[in-house]
Amino acid sequence: MSISSATAEPSTTAGALISIDGVTKVFGEGTARPFEALKSVSMDIKPGEFISVVGPSGCGKSTLMLMAAGLLERSAGSIRIGGELVTKPITDVGIAFQDHLLLDFRTAMDNVLLQADIRGLDRTTLRKRADELFAQLHLEKAKQKYPRQLSGGMRQRVSLIRTLVHDPSLLLFDEPFGALDALTRLQVRMDLEALWLRRRPTVLFITHSVEEAVGLSDRIFVMSPSPGQVVDEIVVDLPRPRPIALVESSDFKLYADRIYGHFERMGVLHGIEVPKEAPRHGD
Ligand code: ADP
Repeated sequence: MSISSATAEPSTTAGALISIDGVTKVFGEGTARPFEALKSVSMDIKPGEFISVVGPSGCGKSTLMLMAAGLLERSAGSIRIGGELVTKPITDVGIAFQDHLLLDFRTAMDNVLLQADIRGLDRTTLRKRADELFAQLHLEKAKQKYPRQLSGGMRQRVSLIRTLVHDPSLLLFDEPFGALDALTRLQVRMDLEALWLRRRPTVLFITHSVEEAVGLSDRIFVMSPSPGQVVDEIVVDLPRPRPIALVESSDFKLYADRIYGHFERMGVLHGIEVPKEAPRHGD
């Protein structure tokens, strides 16, 4: 099979839930040392799409997400969600960061029900939805436990439930699995895909993991080091759900190699050069 790119299947502004157009971010504007973190970034995200933004550390991924959430001002360009220009923090959204940000003094369920308290939503309705999500993630026994009594993976999944419990139509994830060990990270990734497949909210997923991006996304935007710019847009045409073993398939490798190729050309990944005089195994 071949992998398609933006040229093969262009994204259209019409019908996009999120439209990011020529967004630039300069930190320290007007000071002696301004720093351009993002430059002319454009991307359209359709309702129900799972989009990843992948790039090296410091390329501006988190900055882009904060601006999409209305938590950080742009220096130039526009971001529209459902046609509305983002000028203040958006509310119909679930946001998850690398840190699970659970409160130590509340049980897992009470941490999830924080959404009811903060958003003024009905606790009974939210508790019902929370019960469903705890069951889907096989976490029933964790409901009345405090964060310190849970493993890192369990805490992150509780945080995922809190992100999803009010059924937001848009999910923004910033490296949500970054602090987990490799095995737990795989499990939580598959959990996320299963949950996403049930209701198909629109997702903007920030990661520097190529495997995570290919494993989860409908499309991937690849970013360059600072100032962060979009250097490629890749349509991922792989069947769902995507099992762990898919990583070994030639199709999966085609996508991953294309992204790693960008990283090599950017100089953020270097091949291993073996000196000619190096002793070989068995010498
Ligand atoms: P990423 O998420 O891709 O690792 P970030 O969006 O966190 O990158 O940061 C992009 C660049 O902008 C980095 O060089 C970072 O140091 C810089 N940066 C981020 N936030 C600020 C800030 N508030 N002030 C100045 N520079 C910042």
